[in-house]
Order: sequence, then structure tokens, then C-alpha cells
Amino acid sequence: MPHLEADIGVVHGRIVEGLRIPFYKDVYFETVFIPGFSDTHAHPQVIDAGLDTQEMFWRNSYEWLDERELHIDEVMVRQDIGVSTRLAELALKRAVLEGVTMIAFTGVLEANLKARLRFPTGPRLVLLPTLMDKKGWSTPQDVSRLYEKYKKYISDSLLRIGVFVHSLKWAGPKTFYGAIELASKGRMPLGLHLSEGISEGDVFKSRMAVVNRPPRIVAVHCIDDDPASLGIRCSSCPASNMLLYNRTRESLKGVTSFGSDWPHLLGSVPRHLGLILKIFPGRLSEVIRRITTGGYQDYGVSHTGDLVAYDAPLDRVLTGKPLPKLVMVAGSVVVEEGAIKETGETLRVIEKETLEVSKYVGEVYGDGTPPLVPGPQYVWDIVEGLGGEPRIHLARKTPV
Ligand SMILES: [Zn+2]
Repeated sequence: MPHLEADIGVVHGRIVEGLRIPFYKDVYFETVFIPGFSDTHAHPQVIDAGLDTQEMFWRNSYEWLDERELHIDEVMVRQDIGVSTRLAELALKRAVLEGVTMIAFTGVLEANLKARLRFPTGPRLVLLPTLMDKKGWSTPQDVSRLYEKYKKYISDSLLRIGVFVHSLKWAGPKTFYGAIELASKGRMPLGLHLSEGISEGDVFKSRMAVVNRPPRIVAVHCIDDDPASLGIRCSSCPASNMLLYNRTRESLKGVTSFGSDWPHLLGSVPRHLGLILKIFPGRLSEVIRRITTGGYQDYGVSHTGDLVAYDAPLDRVLTGKPLPKLVMVAGSVVVEEGAIKETGETLRVIEKETLEVSKYVGEVYGDGTPPLVPGPQYVWDIVEGLGGEPRIHLARKTPV
């Protein structure tokens, strides 16, 4: 019987030397992860985060959302289903080429679902359509109706549906409880941005005090409150937190998984490994467990048959720089020799296409300037900066 062999295997979060498992052909790799990486928070429609106009670190997400300067009109991008779908498809392809075997998408439900149908092989996808009390965004009733309408497309075993409450401030009690009810009834996970630079634990507790049967809740960021004490899970996003606020959750306590926030802008979670290990030194096995199986557990997703293989030693993989040669999802090869098996696309091709879409979006829905799409180099630069010198990439305009 043929085998897959590897010098190092990272199996369900545990590091083993000399991995040998039955496989459909004889292959050898330096490092293999079983399952691959989970990315538990991603906005596939975000192509501009105001990174090139940022003059200071923000105090919290509300300040950032209110005051940032963007080159494009985000509302227009979201309403353009063609562009939104294309961005989601590129984010899915990017993620799997970077070693992600499970990803959670917030944002536009129809676009994210269409992207899944266009690229059905992987990674596993958790759909978390965003609910908030702002014009152009969905209500719990809208999402319930859409899930009913598309039910024949969402029975796909690589897909899990859920809901995402934007935040406590931008989703009032009516939307919040509507989302809780929808999630509880449908046994769906519920995500929300929480404590992103400002403590919201008390407000969260008081809102939850009247909920009898809470759904599975995955809070995102949790910089300022301990999610474990609130009885919820937490997807930490150190890369975007460091860029926006110059701080992130300092403790792994309560963190159950990691998210990339903006895969188009910073790459997906495996590219952030170097940063995560810099923030939590000496905690390798705890980080690895969260970054692989942790995300699957957060959303209740199976990882049977998911695997990522590298022609690079483990210590290099942990910098976030090498790309996998082989990625399998549910036992099927999705990436072979560093390219998508079905289409032959490499990460370089996907990055080029993303820049083209970003240019188009800048022209059609923006001020003519293409938004800055820096890529994971930005994250690697933060890692360098944490070595001593203060970080870069700020004050592109001289502060007044
Ligand atoms: Zn987010």
C-alpha cells in the first residue's frame, strides 16, 4: 500500500516525528499538518482598510470605523454582487493556496455563497452573514429568508451556515435577539466583534442575561475582556489588531482560534504564524492546537480528510513564509504542487487578479486611487518591528 511520509507531522495539534500514513500514492514531505489551518474570521469583501491613510493608532474599532479614510465606497462594493462574489472567490482560493482548510466568511451572504458554488472544492466554509442596523445591511429576517431560499445549495457537506452580529453598538437589542433566536433555532454558530479595543463584557453579559438557550458564540478580537469568563469562544486577530491599535489580546487564555480579518490585505492565518508565535513565545503546542483544530471546534466543523503538506521544515513553516505544496480537504486534493488542481492557478495569479479587481473597484466605486493591498509582508514587518524598533507603516501622512 502506498504511503505519505513526513519528517514532522502536526497531528491534531501534537507534533510527531516520522509520520507515515496510508495514502493514494507514495509521497514524501518535510512537514505535514493534519488537519490544515483554520481561519475563523475573514471579511472577503474588504479590499481597503484605510491602511495607507492611517496617521495614528486607533483606540478601538468604533473610532476606526467612524474616522478612517477609505479610497472606496464599501457600500457600493457590497451592493455589486458581481464584484463581491469575485472577491469572495479570490479569498477562498487565496486561503486554500496558503494552507487554510477551514475558513469563516462574514459579509454578503449571496456573494459568499455564489463564490462557494464557483469554487466548491475547498476550503470548508462557514457562512456568517453580517447583521447590523445600518442601511444596506441584513436583518435576521433577511438571512432567515435567504437560507430558506437557498436551502438546496447549503446542504453541501463542506459548508456550515451561521450568523454574524456586527457588534453590540451597531446591532441593537432587536437585531441581537433576532440573531440569537435564528442561531438557536437552526443550531447555528453566532459570531460577533467584541471588545475590540474597548471593554464590552458587561454589556454582553447584560444582553445575554435574558437568553435561556444561548447558541454557540464565537466572539472576534476580545482584546479587552476574557471570553472564557463570558462562556464564549474567541477568534483572535493579532495582525489587524496590531495594525489598527498596536495591541492585541495578550493572553492565550480564552482564545480558541485565530482569524486573519482581511485575507486580501494581509494573507490568511497561516501567514500570520510568525506574528502569533512572537506574541506568545514558548507556547508552540497551544498556538498550534488553536490554529488548526481550534477553529473547527469553534464552529462545529469536521476535519476528516483535511491535510496540508510542505517541502519546508517546521521552523520555516512557523514563520508564515513558505507555501504548501499539497492541500487536501475532505480527502480530495485541492492544491497540488502549489497550484489549484482544477484551474492551475497559483497564489501569484490570485494576487495579480486581486490587484486588478482592486484597481477596478478604485476606479468605479472610489476616488480613483486603488486601495493599498499590502499582502503578508506587512505582517512580517510587524514581527521585525517587535524585535526592537517601533513599527513602520504608519504616519504615511505627517500628523499635524
Ligand atoms: Zn472583523
